Amino acid sequence: AKEWGKDTYRFYESQMNEATSRKMELEQSLRKALEHNEFVLYYQPKYNLLTGKAFGVEALVRWRHPKLGIVPPSEFIPLAEETGLIVPLGDWILRTACMQNQKWINEGLPAMRMAVNLSMLQISQDNLVEWVQNALDYSGMDPDYLELEITESIAILNEYGIERKLHALRAMGIRISVDDFGTGYSSLSRLNQLPIDTLKIDRSFIRDIASSEESSVILKAIIYMARSLNLTVLAEGVETEEQLRFLQKHLCMEGQGYYFNKPLSVEDMERQLMIWGPA
Ligand code: C2E
Ligand code: CA
Ligand code: CA
Ligand code: CA
Repeated sequence: AKEWGKDTYRFYESQMNEATSRKMELEQSLRKALEHNEFVLYYQPKYNLLTGKAFGVEALVRWRHPKLGIVPPSEFIPLAEETGLIVPLGDWILRTACMQNQKWINEGLPAMRMAVNLSMLQISQDNLVEWVQNALDYSGMDPDYLELEITESIAILNEYGIERKLHALRAMGIRISVDDFGTGYSSLSRLNQLPIDTLKIDRSFIRDIASSEESSVILKAIIYMARSLNLTVLAEGVETEEQLRFLQKHLCMEGQGYYFNKPLSVEDMERQLMIWGPA
C-alpha cells in the first residue's frame, strides 16, 4: 500500500509539473507570438432571431502555436493579462478586426457590425478612448460599425473611470455590450447608469433551458427586465432548435451560437457573406 501511495504521489507530481511547464512554455512563446504573426481572428455571426438575418460578427482570437497547435483563448488570454501582453495583442486584435470589416464593406459585401472583446487591463488603460479612435482612423471604419464587449464583472467596477470612458466611446457612436450577463451580481441601478446597448446572456442559461426550470425562469426575467430598460438582449451559445424556439417565444431579439455558425475563419466568413449577397 505504501508503494502504491508513493506512485500515486509521483503521478500527481508529474501531472503538476506538466501543467506548470506548459504554462511556462506558453508564457515564453507568448512574447514572441505577436512578432511571429501567430495570432488569427475567427468571426462568429450574430442573428436577429425574428427576421433570421445576421447583423454582425464577433471577433474571436486564436493562437496557432508552432509546436502545440491551436491554443484556446481561455488558456492564453489570462496569461496575456498577467504579463501585460494583452495591451499590444488587444491593439492588434482591434486593428485587424476593423480593417477586415472595412475591407468587406469596400468589397460590397453586406455590412456587418464588428464586435471586439476588451479585457480588464485594456479597459483600465488611461488612453483607452484615444486608442480606440486611432484604430478607427487607421482602418477607416465608421464607428457605427464597431461594438465593444466587456464582461459584466468589468462593467460593474466603479474604478478606472470606466463609466466616463464608456460614455465617451458611446458618444463616438460605438455600441457597448455586456458579456456573460447573469454570471455576475450587478445591480439594476448600476447597469442603468452605464451607456449599454446590449446584454449578452451567458451561455449557461441557454444551455439549461430544457433541463432547469430555474434557468428558464431567470432567462425570462432577464429578457423582461432588459426590455423595460430599453436594452437589446442577445442569447449566446444557441445550439438547438428547441432553444431557438424558446428564445423567440419569449421575444429575445438576438442570438449567436453553433446552431447558426461556429466561429469562422476569414475564408469561411467571406463565403458566408457572399451567400448572403451584396449589401
Ligand atoms: P466569450 O466572449 O464569451 O466568447 C464566446 C465563446 O463561446 C467563444 O469561445 C465561442 O467560440 C464560444 N461559443 C460560441 N457559440 C457557442 C455555442 O453554441 N456553444 C458553445 N459550447 N460555445 C460557443 P472562445 O473563442 O474559445 O473564446 C473564449 C473566451 O475568450 C471569450 O468568451 C472571451 O472571453 C475570450 N476571448 C476570445 N477572443 C478574445 C479577444 O479577442 N480579446 C479578448 N480580450 N478576449 C477574447
Ligand atoms: Ca464576447
Ligand atoms: Ca460571452
Ligand atoms: Ca463566456
